[in-house]
Amino acid sequence: DLLEEPREMENTLPQPFDRSRVAGRLTFDNASFRYHGSENFALRDITLDVQPGETIALVGPSGAGKTTLCNLAARFYDPTRGAVLLDNRDLREVNVESYRRLIGVVEQDVFLFDGTIRENIAYARRRCSEEEIIGAANAAAADDFIRGLPDGYDTVIGERGVKLSGGQRQRIAIARAILADPKILILDEATSNLDSESERLIQSALHELLQDRTAIVIAHRLSTITEADQIVVVEDGEVVEVGSHDELLLQGGRYRDMVHLQMQEGTAT
Ligand code: ADP
Repeated sequence: DLLEEPREMENTLPQPFDRSRVAGRLTFDNASFRYHGSENFALRDITLDVQPGETIALVGPSGAGKTTLCNLAARFYDPTRGAVLLDNRDLREVNVESYRRLIGVVEQDVFLFDGTIRENIAYARRRCSEEEIIGAANAAAADDFIRGLPDGYDTVIGERGVKLSGGQRQRIAIARAILADPKILILDEATSNLDSESERLIQSALHELLQDRTAIVIAHRLSTITEADQIVVVEDGEVVEVGSHDELLLQGGRYRDMVHLQMQEGTAT
């Protein structure tokens, strides 16, 4: 009888996530969000279900709410109404630190600090071997250019060292994320125009990074997302279309218009 007695603390203390038991299903259940002090809702009634390992791509005009949606997924904010859940557990009921350890965020403006390439890649993982660092750089299509630098992995970058191109910086950031091995990845794809070789290398690096983890991608170049499991068109805080690339093209709505527009601009492939 004593064992069956409900333990009070269990319900009141936020429970940590046990990484090995996380499948990675991310659900938005009627989530709405209003920034503090703001009159309007930045997101309204968002309902999305991302299965473990799936990639969803968010597209839509600037100010639509894509970043805000990612902020809720990363639990930088809690929804004003509704809920965000991981494996059916409301994020409000779990320990924030343990949740953050499961997620990786790769932002547009790649953050690299003054230090060696090796330190920059290993930054998210305290203990890792040389093989793991090189393995991650390889997967991120960065190993070749790193070996071509004056001191290879010991090359200092930033103010005091070599300057890397935008594409190279992104591949370092992707190598870092691959090494960190998050269960949930939030990726704000870079908008910068890259030459086609860089673009090709980054696509292959991203492909590697997105394997076997749940991912939310803010896509700026529609060419990146044709393979996404779900493409979510966000406009004015609401989801207006959801489907695969082929489904949405057939549907002939907002997504198809965007694809046509990018083709006219010559940015889509
Ligand atoms: P997107 O990423 O699609 O460009 P955002 O999620 O950044 O859109 O913005 C959605 C809406 O929320 C916009 O109207 C924006 O002005 C507003 N917003 C974004 N960040 C804040 C903030 N920190 N405080 C108040 N309003 C914000």
